[in-house]
Amino acid sequence: METVTQLLESIKDVGRDAFRGGYTRPVYSTAELDLRGWFVEQAGRRGLEVETDRNGVIWAWWGQPSDGALVTGSHLDSVPGGGAFDGPLGVASALAAVDLLRARGTAPSRPLAITVFPEEEGSRFGVACLGSRLLTGAIDTNKALNLRDADGNTFADVARANGLDPRYMGPDAEALARIGDFVELHVEQGIGLGTDGPGIAVGSSVLGHGRWKLSIHGQGNHAGTTLMADRADPMVAAAQIIVAVRQAAARQPDARATVGRIVPVPGGTNVIPSRVDLWLDARHPDDRVTAHLVEGIHGRAQRVAAEEGCTVTLTEESYSNTVHFDAGLTGRISGLLPHAPVLATGAGHDAGVLAGFVPSAMLFVRNPSGISHSPEEHVADRDADAGAAALADVLAGLL
Ligand SMILES: [Zn+2]
Repeated sequence: METVTQLLESIKDVGRDAFRGGYTRPVYSTAELDLRGWFVEQAGRRGLEVETDRNGVIWAWWGQPSDGALVTGSHLDSVPGGGAFDGPLGVASALAAVDLLRARGTAPSRPLAITVFPEEEGSRFGVACLGSRLLTGAIDTNKALNLRDADGNTFADVARANGLDPRYMGPDAEALARIGDFVELHVEQGIGLGTDGPGIAVGSSVLGHGRWKLSIHGQGNHAGTTLMADRADPMVAAAQIIVAVRQAAARQPDARATVGRIVPVPGGTNVIPSRVDLWLDARHPDDRVTAHLVEGIHGRAQRVAAEEGCTVTLTEESYSNTVHFDAGLTGRISGLLPHAPVLATGAGHDAGVLAGFVPSAMLFVRNPSGISHSPEEHVADRDADAGAAALADVLAGLL
């Protein structure tokens, strides 16, 4: 029997990022594969039967796999330079919760499974929650298989190299039917829980969010021979567009909009780029407001680009509506954890995708820094233990 802290300690060296700090564990990288191997080993030690479905989701079963099971789990991939808890906390807590249930002598009256979803962050192929979107059919299979990573590899090729058959990937009604209820425990990614009081919250909703790619096309040229007046420089347009994104979101109450990635092509110090790609992440509780916000940003980007002699194209890469977790399930969980406050989150999760198909809910564990997607993300040992205990209470109450 191991605590969550001990379990996380055993993977603390996997995927460390010496350049960015924290961890870089993109899906199907050596680091993420090591973590998947670690999970399979941990499940095996507990006598759980492990299977990987045709979309690469790992299932570890306590009891015979069957429909209507109680399922808990999270992900093991990370953003570039992420923290130690986003994803692994939910997986380690699920393993620890199984230990706690056994120590308490709880025998499940329906099968329980722990799942690990691939590419939750979308840090390699650009679409977050790719595993749960494929399983549920929330993404077109061909679109998913043709996504490319930064090296130009398609998701189909990478999946094939990792033992999956792209011909069989996509909506999996059998796997979905296995999920009677889904509960994901996750580090809180804000400071909703504060620094004292209960360390666990019950999730109420996931903020609607999407990703858009803006490509600004200009005239690639020589940095020395091209007079300032003769330029069509997409980098200059990009700079103004990034500021415009900030201004547009700041004017809209409850909106968040971010440009966290920008790629100049070809990317040379003495080269005016021919194209600049930047990615917009925009979020708001009201999906119509998000759409309006992105439209406004697109319009402004077109004007800014035209003034610079450039053009701009906008492509939606993914969008998820605001999700409200199943009221019945969430209510039962609140009954089992009477002191836990109910919190909304601005971060996306596999539980948010699954919520469109099966009763789903979330638990959040205090992150005193409030910082996430950064090495500064943190969970105190006692809160991690309280999280696993709370998850065990919830699972016992739902079994
Ligand atoms: Zn996560």
